[in-house]
Amino acid sequence: MEKYFDSHCHLSTKNVPNLKVGAIYNAAHFSDWDNIIRLSESAENLYGAIGVHPWYVSDLPNNWFELLKNKLTENQKLMVGEIGLDKHHDNMDLQIDIFAKQLLLAHELNRPVQLHCVGAWEKMLAILKMYRNKLPSFIIAHEYSGPLEIMQRLISEYNFFFSYGPRNLRNPLRILATPMGRILSETDGDNPDGVISVVEQMAEILNIAPKKMADIIYKNTMGILRHDQTA
Ligand SMILES: [Zn+2]
Repeated sequence: MEKYFDSHCHLSTKNVPNLKVGAIYNAAHFSDWDNIIRLSESAENLYGAIGVHPWYVSDLPNNWFELLKNKLTENQKLMVGEIGLDKHHDNMDLQIDIFAKQLLLAHELNRPVQLHCVGAWEKMLAILKMYRNKLPSFIIAHEYSGPLEIMQRLISEYNFFFSYGPRNLRNPLRILATPMGRILSETDGDNPDGVISVVEQMAEILNIAPKKMADIIYKNTMGILRHDQTA
């Protein structure tokens, strides 16, 4: 059986079944952190990302940053995520502040970032430019929905990867424009095994054999997960 990886999923209210695929579970609210950490410790092919999602920036304890830093420091296997900006939600100034703090923390601790960015790519580019020398080594743009020109800049100027899921499959122009070495697969849901079908559909869109597609994505994902964490 080929190896598959869901690089962006979320906690389930059900028990996590014995998965056929590897998975990176993402926190949204800070109350997810401990469950994500437990899950990432439960199996070799399960990973976690903890952080504050732009939807939940106004619902944080005062010491959130210290808590986040401590938990990341104690758990080398964790990424930072999902973090970012979302124009459909209030508090853009607060979103930018909380995002930038987490981006710099990811650089300091040498962890990849899971990025959520909706309708705020100009602001995102300004932040990336401002901290150009303090960016984490890998940033995964989950379910990228921005313009193709910005995507080209994220590839040539920054070390971005692009994780595609069911919504991207319905409008595949970004999938078609992504270099093979930067493509990842995701469900953004709570059943990571669903990524097998996502990968099969991506293979069809890109007109390559499903096995080859699975191998490329698995290799890309492992390259990020096995990065040198001794900052
Ligand atoms: Zn998500």
